[in-house]
Amino acid sequence: DAAVEVRGICKKYNDVEALRMIDLDFPRGKLTTLLGPSGCGKTTLLKIIAGLIEPTSGEVRVNGRPVTGPGPERAFVFQDFALMPWATVMRNVAFGLELRGMGKAERQSIARKYIAEVGLAGFEDKYPHELSGGMRQRVGLARAFAVNADVLLLDEPFSAVDEQNRRKFQEDLLRLVEKERKTFIFVTHSIEEAVYVSDRIVLLSRRPGRVSQIIEPKIDRTAS
Ligand code: ADP
Ligand code: ADP
Repeated sequence: DAAVEVRGICKKYNDVEALRMIDLDFPRGKLTTLLGPSGCGKTTLLKIIAGLIEPTSGEVRVNGRPVTGPGPERAFVFQDFALMPWATVMRNVAFGLELRGMGKAERQSIARKYIAEVGLAGFEDKYPHELSGGMRQRVGLARAFAVNADVLLLDEPFSAVDEQNRRKFQEDLLRLVEKERKTFIFVTHSIEEAVYVSDRIVLLSRRPGRVSQIIEPKIDRTAS
């Protein structure tokens, strides 16, 4: 069964038609990548699924329920939803758990685990401005993982990570996908990255974005 169902989604920004009639199912426990040229509506579609922007028409259902705004079963990493600059790495990662009313000791122990998962053990008390761009992106990932949402929406989460480290983070992500059995929807404009991390790739056409093809890459990751 699909964790996320997208039905007849259209989006217009004034006279810019960003998406036209998108119908997609995102299977549970799989990583699906949205791939397509810049401006084809990848971020728009991801934000509609996140409940951050409203479609012009159509409907998104998550676990069978219509999306009307953000919800605890979905976590997301977007470039423009940055870390809280006044809060430490620990506080940033634990924030979603704090919102859910979890006690301090429990949320800090969960946050600590995910900070270590993204390779930042020892950086718990640092502030965002003390970290590199790539490290800040990984704090965002840890924050998204920590809330234990069913569906993770990731918009170019490795764009600030340098070439040498990117493969390591892609492998960290794959490990989390396998271990946690979550539904991932990932946006990238890198074909190489899409082929490496995805169970399914949804190719979107140039604006207005439409689904042009769905590919299931078969990659032997042990060979590279
Ligand atoms: P992608 O993520 O594939 O690069 P976007 O979803 O960011 O594409 O944008 C799709 C189209 O919608 C682009 O032409 C973009 O300029 C336009 N667009 C995105 N956000 C807005 C906005 N807030 N107002 C007007 N146009 C927008
Ligand atoms: P960016 O691509 O923004 O430079 P990276 O995540 O690739 O970000 O990290 C850049 C630098 O930050 C590295 O060269 C390293 O010095 C430091 N760094 C990153 N992760 C760690 C870590 N886990 N421990 C210590 N230093 C780190």
